[in-house]
Amino acid sequence: MASKKQIENPELSLSRQFDELCTLVDAIPHLVWIGRPDGYMEYHNQRWLDYTNIPLEYTYGDGWTQSLHPDDRAGALATWQHAVQTGTPFEEEQRLRNGHTGAYRWFLVRGVPIKDTRGSIVRWFGTCTDIDDQKRIQAALLQSQERAASLMNSNIIGIFIAEEEVIIEANDTFLHMSGYTREDLRNQRMNWASMTPPTYTALCQQAHQELTHLKYMPPYEKEYVRKDGSHLPVLVGGVVSQINPHQCIYFVLDNSARKELEQRKDDFISMASHELKAPLTTLKLQNQLVKKRLERHGLHEAGAALSRLEEPIKQLERLIGELLDVSKIQAGRLEYAQEPVDLDKLLHEITTSMQQVHTTHTITVRSIPHLSLIGDKDRLGQVFINLISNAIKYSPDATTIEIDIHPSMDTVTISVRDHGIGIPPEQRKKIFERFYRITDQKQHALSGLGMGLYIVSEIIKRHNGTITVDSEVGKGSTFHVTLPYHPTRNV
Ligand code: ADP
Repeated sequence: MASKKQIENPELSLSRQFDELCTLVDAIPHLVWIGRPDGYMEYHNQRWLDYTNIPLEYTYGDGWTQSLHPDDRAGALATWQHAVQTGTPFEEEQRLRNGHTGAYRWFLVRGVPIKDTRGSIVRWFGTCTDIDDQKRIQAALLQSQERAASLMNSNIIGIFIAEEEVIIEANDTFLHMSGYTREDLRNQRMNWASMTPPTYTALCQQAHQELTHLKYMPPYEKEYVRKDGSHLPVLVGGVVSQINPHQCIYFVLDNSARKELEQRKDDFISMASHELKAPLTTLKLQNQLVKKRLERHGLHEAGAALSRLEEPIKQLERLIGELLDVSKIQAGRLEYAQEPVDLDKLLHEITTSMQQVHTTHTITVRSIPHLSLIGDKDRLGQVFINLISNAIKYSPDATTIEIDIHPSMDTVTISVRDHGIGIPPEQRKKIFERFYRITDQKQHALSGLGMGLYIVSEIIKRHNGTITVDSEVGKGSTFHVTLPYHPTRNV
C-alpha cells in the first residue's frame, strides 16, 4: 500500500506547507512577511497587520509599500526588485507607519530567499525589526559628539585633557595659547605641572586637592609658561572625566587682557596716590603755619576757622594712605617690622584715642594685661583702628562696641563686636576683597571705598594670622582676628 505521503496531491501539500508556515510566522514576536519568488508579496503576519493597521488583502503585490514613509517607498521597492532579480538577501532601514498613531518608526527590514533542494528559490522570508529607539540614541549620541566637538574647537576657551600631569588631548585654542604643536601633544611633550611657574605651585596643588575631593576644580587665576618661555595669565577650571576617572578635563581662559587692565589700574592708583600725597602734605603744613601766625597775632577766630580744616585734611590723609597701602600690597612692597607688641597696651591706646573722637559709642576692652606677640605694632594698630572704625560706622543706631582677647596655647584671638546692620552670609568672604563694598541701600548711605578690610586681611596674612566674621543681619557683626602667639617670646 502506498504511503499517505506518496498519494498526496503535491499542490495540496504545498498549500498546506504554506498554511503551516503562516501559522508559525504568526507566532513569531516580530513583524514578518513572505514573498513569492517573482516578487509578489503574499503574506504579512498578524503583528505586521496589527502595527500597520492595514488589512491583509491590501498588502498583496505592491500593496505593502503603502505602510512605508513616502520618502522610503521608491528605494524600498527598488531594493526588493533587485533582490528578486539577483536572488540575493538584503537588509535596509525603512520607516514603517504605525497605523493607529500615524507616527513612523525606523525598522531594519531583512529578506532572505528560501531555496529547495535543487537550489531554486521557493519563497522569500522577511523580518522587520524595530530599531527606532536605537536610531534615536545613535542620533542623540551623534548630536552630543558634534556638540562636544564644537565645544572642543571653540576659539574662546582652551580645553585640554590630562592623565596625571601629562596632557593627552587639547583643542587648537589651547595649543595656540601655549605655543605648542599637535606633534608636541602626540609625543607627550606637554605637561601642565612643568608648564606651571614655581610661584603658582602651591596654589595649583590646592586646586588639585579640591579637584580630587569635589570632582571639579573651581576656576582660579594662574599662569602657564608657554613653549617660548613667556608667561600667559589664565583662568583655569576643571572636572574629573565621568568616563575615565584617571583623566581630567581643563578649561582655560586667556586672562592677559584683564591682567593688563588691572595692572594699568594699579599703576594709576599708585601714581595718583603719590601725586595727591605731596600737595596734601604742603597744604597741611601751610595750614598749621598760618594758624600759628594768626594766633600769635591774636586772631583766634581766624585760627579756629583754620582748625576746622584739620579733620577733613586728616580724612584725606587716611584715604591717600590707604590708597598707597593698597598699591604697595599689590606690588609686594608693604614692609613689616618684627618687634614685640604688647597687645593689651596697644588696644588700650587705640580705644582711648578713638573714644575721644567718637562719642556716639562706648568702646570697652576686656583684655589680659601684658600679653605680647611679635609683629609690626603700627600695622597691627592699623588693623584694630580699621575694625573699630567700621564697627562704629556700620552701627549707627547702636551705642556699644566690645573688644575681647582670648589667648590659647599658641594663638591669640581678638574679637571686635558691634550691634549694627550686620553682613549678609553671601557677602562675608567678599568684603575682604579689594574695593569690595556691599551695594545694599542701608550700606550705601555710609561712605567708604572698600579698601580697609582688604588692607586689614593682608596685614594679618603677613603676620601668619586669620580673620573671620560672624554676623547676623540687623543684629551686628563680630570680626575675629587670630594671630600666632609664642608665650615664650613674651616681653
Ligand atoms: P569701607 O571703606 O567701605 O568701609 P571696608 O573694606 O572697610 O571698606 O569694608 C568693606 C565692606 O564691608 C563695607 O563696605 C561694608 O559693606 C562691610 N562692612 C565692614 N565692616 C562692617 C561691619 N562692622 N558691619 C557691617 N558691614 C561691614
